[in-house]
Amino acid sequence: MAAETSEVVRHDVNCPYCGGVFDLFSASWCSHWPVGTQSKQCPRCARCLCDHPSYREPRMWMDAPLVFQKRGFPRLFLLYL
Ligand SMILES: [Zn+2]
Ligand SMILES: [Zn+2]
Repeated sequence: MAAETSEVVRHDVNCPYCGGVFDLFSASWCSHWPVGTQSKQCPRCARCLCDHPSYREPRMWMDAPLVFQKRGFPRLFLLYL
């Protein structure tokens, strides 16, 4: 059976630190703990979102769309929408 054509294969986002654009899905997870609160690392400046001032604000989060959940994102940070 053919792959679902509507599936999102990449999701370009802007790094809030260096302004670089990268694909959120192919970026590496950072190595911070605990598991489940990790974020993606920008491949350009190698920073993750864990120390971003908005990262711990609940209003900056939404339930992730299904395509994101399939890729390991239970929730989606609004800056990465
Ligand atoms: Zn960056
Ligand atoms: Zn991190």
